[in-house]
Amino acid sequence: SNELRIEDLRVAIEGKEILKGVSLTVRQGEVHALMGPNGSGKSTLSYALMGHPSYEVTGGSVLLNGCNLLEMEADERAKAGLFLAFQYPTAIPGVTVANFLRHAVTNIRHPDRKEGEDLIPMREFRKELRAVMDELGIDPEFARRYLNDGFSGGEKKRAEVLQLAMLKPAFAILDETDSGLDIDAVRLVSEGVNRVVQREGTGVLVITHYQRILNYIKPQFVHILLGGRIVERGGPELVEILERDGYDWVRAKHPVEA
Ligand code: ADP
Ligand code: MG
Ligand code: MG
Repeated sequence: SNELRIEDLRVAIEGKEILKGVSLTVRQGEVHALMGPNGSGKSTLSYALMGHPSYEVTGGSVLLNGCNLLEMEADERAKAGLFLAFQYPTAIPGVTVANFLRHAVTNIRHPDRKEGEDLIPMREFRKELRAVMDELGIDPEFARRYLNDGFSGGEKKRAEVLQLAMLKPAFAILDETDSGLDIDAVRLVSEGVNRVVQREGTGVLVITHYQRILNYIKPQFVHILLGGRIVERGGPELVEILERDGYDWVRAKHPVEA
């Protein structure tokens, strides 16, 4: 089955339970939004799916196309088809954006390749990269920059979106803080996401506090997280309701979680 299936997931940080049984299934080609006020556990979910060692899974399961995601190492998760936006958050000295992407694409397309074996051919890779950059309106010069070295928030997003477009993952989880991103960055992220959904049938989970990015990436399914539980589910109308009324009504309706 082509789906990312999160079932009754419980996650603790330093012994304190943060996620208290989260269930959410994303199928291929679907766009889901997970929204919720600050502190509701949104980032905890993305860190847990990433396999961050500080986030202890205390219950439940996550299946990626039927395979147990929680037993996989981070790189195995990527090879199995899961893209996590901030998987490579730090600067890597001497590694350009193009270089980094060539390694990442090789690893995904040739999962059994050993370290030191051939990368995908340079000409083929360059051609593909140029086409994707062109389509996303990213200056070709950007590929020669050193990865994350002094990148602005917008440039980090650019690198992330390029990575998404080149890797063409089966599923992508994007934790969009939306902090400090200008409208051009929001548009670029959205275009990149919409492109892989349409072309590759990528299933997407956008995690966000703010509705702004959801004006550009239109989710079919919206889930509201509060106090570590999904307390409301609906369609895109929920985004509009949250934009208009904020989260107070959600807290009032679910006092135990609030
Ligand atoms: P959100 O992304 O929705 O704002 P988080 O997942 O970041 O929420 O946080 C959920 C809860 O977990 C909050 O109460 C927060 O204080 C707590 N928390 C997050 N990270 C840590 C941590 N490293 N140590 C202890 N508590 C944490
Ligand atoms: Mg937060
Ligand atoms: Mg967060």
